[in-house]
Amino acid sequence: MRIISVELFKADIAYHAPFRIAISESTSTENVFVRLTTDAGFYGMGEASPTRAIVGETQASVVETAKELSPLFLGSDPLDIEGLVRRMDACRGGQPTCKSAFDMALYDLAGKIQGLPLYAVLGGGKRDFWTDNTIGIDTPEVMAKKAAVFQADRYQAIKVKLGTNRDDDIDRIRAIRAAVGDEIPLRIDANQGWDYQTAIAVLKALEPMGIEYCEQPVAHWDYANMKRIRERTTIPIMADESVFDHHDAFKLATQGCVDYINIKLAKSGGIHKALKINAVAEAAGIACMVGSMSETRLGLSAAAHLVSARPNIRFADLDTHFDHAIDPVVGGVEIDGAGVRLTDTPGHGADIDPGYLDACESVKID
Ligand code: MG
Repeated sequence: MRIISVELFKADIAYHAPFRIAISESTSTENVFVRLTTDAGFYGMGEASPTRAIVGETQASVVETAKELSPLFLGSDPLDIEGLVRRMDACRGGQPTCKSAFDMALYDLAGKIQGLPLYAVLGGGKRDFWTDNTIGIDTPEVMAKKAAVFQADRYQAIKVKLGTNRDDDIDRIRAIRAAVGDEIPLRIDANQGWDYQTAIAVLKALEPMGIEYCEQPVAHWDYANMKRIRERTTIPIMADESVFDHHDAFKLATQGCVDYINIKLAKSGGIHKALKINAVAEAAGIACMVGSMSETRLGLSAAAHLVSARPNIRFADLDTHFDHAIDPVVGGVEIDGAGVRLTDTPGHGADIDPGYLDACESVKID
């Protein structure tokens, strides 16, 4: 079986409301869907959700890189995922978000060709798990109101974006705790927004407030202070922007910088390398989370199968589609406060509404 065409679709999706984190504010996401079709009539769907401030890619760069990578796929065996991932890396360094869309489409194809849901293609089972829901940076009052809504909607943990300054960040968590009580775990994410002193001051103040872990307190390159912070607080430290691939995971693990690692397909270049990150982490006794950039339920479906297939992935942060004003996905994972529910449809189980795809600016390479 051979791949005979690559199609790229630009998907511009507005948010219900602006979403702010320490390093950026967004009012929409500009994603790219990739469709790989074979001569046997199977097709696989992937999604790139580029985050300029973290990965350095944009919708335009994803499309340009995808055009450059497409000849590698035409005429190739879709089941040779290792070979195609290596060929993408040899053709072009970096560009993990673009590569993740191809990787996701290949795994979707592998499932469809074998008649297996993706978790089974990955050698794993169907597990019950749930995701948190995330509150963007705002005033303490607005954030506390959202936290109460998420709690009422039965989310079992709330993720809170922080990373502006010490006093405001502490006030945010105080207000949220006052609104939701002491039981529900809070996960915080500074998105590199603190320096060492601020991180220590905030984390020390928050230690009695039921914080499950803190993501990326300082800059992605600042391994030394990640380690110092980890040694000086009881709140576990999770690396996000510091980990793109298994090499990053190995360095952070061997240097004792982190308790947990947040894997995102848009950083790792897809599922193939996400599995390598998880394996390195597991070898070091580090549990993982799978998170998301601003994927629709298509990208989230692929991520959810990965979570299901690997019990070392202890946490899930698969909530980005809640910010989107529309949901163009047909089938795929269902997500709410009660949990994340996978389908047994072959592949990741998600597709894009044909009418929506028709309206997207697209290019076909064959
Ligand atoms: Mg994060």
